[in-house]
Amino acid sequence: MRFEIVTIFPGFFAGIFENGILRRALAEGLVEVGVHDLREFTHDRHRTVDDRPFGGGEGMVLKPEPLAEALGSLGIAPKAERSKKEWLAEDDAAAGTRVILLSAQGRPFTQAMARELAALERVVLICGRYEGVDERVNQLYCDMELSIGDYVLSGGELAAAVVVDAATRLLPGALGNEASSEFESFGAADAEIATDVEGVPRSQHGAGGLLDYPHFTRPAEFGGLRAPEVLMNGDHREIRRWRREQQLRKTLANRPDLLAAAALSKEDRKLLEAIQREAD
Ligand code: SAM
Repeated sequence: MRFEIVTIFPGFFAGIFENGILRRALAEGLVEVGVHDLREFTHDRHRTVDDRPFGGGEGMVLKPEPLAEALGSLGIAPKAERSKKEWLAEDDAAAGTRVILLSAQGRPFTQAMARELAALERVVLICGRYEGVDERVNQLYCDMELSIGDYVLSGGELAAAVVVDAATRLLPGALGNEASSEFESFGAADAEIATDVEGVPRSQHGAGGLLDYPHFTRPAEFGGLRAPEVLMNGDHREIRRWRREQQLRKTLANRPDLLAAAALSKEDRKLLEAIQREAD
């Protein structure tokens, strides 16, 4: 798959994809990232990309013309002029290109959305700056506005890097262990993945729409705290059971909103009730 990032700060991305999983995915050709300098699509002496907002008020707004030209250079026409056939690969509605405007006003970016993006051939990410992007760019060209959280960043570049990272690690072959992304925090809520017939989780990792469990490594004793004995006794069924309980505890404590959509077995529900009783 390929990401196209449109930004006024192309230098922001120097080095950002040169570590770990992303570096490897790029080196192996699993993913490509094109970074496009918005100023290249201006025609005045000052390479102007922004202007004052109509109606007055604080700050500046990214002008529509350079953005439209940058998108045009990537073969992206306004939505109304796109033929569905050209846009989506003929036999796969999930493939094709999506144009995304990064915005604090966007839909929340989730692991489920990262999975959707990882199935596409090309994702174009428009990074806003100042007060944002002229809304007509959104209306004419963008398939989606995306927010990485309920806070305001100075620009869309950090958000673009987050989207590239989260989607790339889901590409087949990007992680050493093919299955491991299924079993992390927010793994697909799928009871089949989560547990065996007796309700003991099949995997060593978190799954089923819950948060991951806590991890420990050597030394066994650190800062006066001992790593949980159950993790060191080699009983893998017990370990899986303990880890599932920890996932439930952590999700209940930090993200109780996830429990409603999580794939919970009968065992999970019993455990959850016991944990909730403890707290009462
Ligand atoms: N005036 C905008 C508002 O109040 O929603 C904030 C603009 S912000 C200073 C500049 C740019 O940063 C935005 O156009 C967007 O591209 C990016 N940005 C800020 N917060 C973001 C978030 N939570 N998620 C994604 N992009 C964000």
